[in-house]
Amino acid sequence: MILKENMTCIICPMGCSMEVTIEEENGAKKVVSVAGNGCPRGPVYAGKEIQNPARTLTTTIAVTGGDLKLVPVKTLGEVPVRMLMPCMEVIKRAKCEAPVETGQIIVRDILGTGVDVVACADVARKY
Ligand code: SF4
Repeated sequence: MILKENMTCIICPMGCSMEVTIEEENGAKKVVSVAGNGCPRGPVYAGKEIQNPARTLTTTIAVTGGDLKLVPVKTLGEVPVRMLMPCMEVIKRAKCEAPVETGQIIVRDILGTGVDVVACADVARKY
């Protein structure tokens, strides 16, 4: 079966609107052609979106004993889109102890994705 899907490439600020032609067979999808992309990265992005969409997750984690109650964090790589909400559940329950340093691993290998969650800011200890 041949399908058409409209997709916006998010690789750069150009945000090209692409029409992606997809072949679906026995539940497996593959990109047949892409139109509207401004550069070769568009079809690569479309292929990844169709077969294994993934995102970097950015959020905050609670800090105990710090001069701030939350520290901004992000995944040190992309996690599959289907894992974003389960990862958010883990992060929602997580806490870290001040002091926290930028780049410090707060959650290692979140849900077995092989991706660590790291702090994006320093939080000093509250005295
Ligand atoms: S297709 Fe190329 S130019 Fe267009 S948004 Fe993607 S990366 Fe940018």
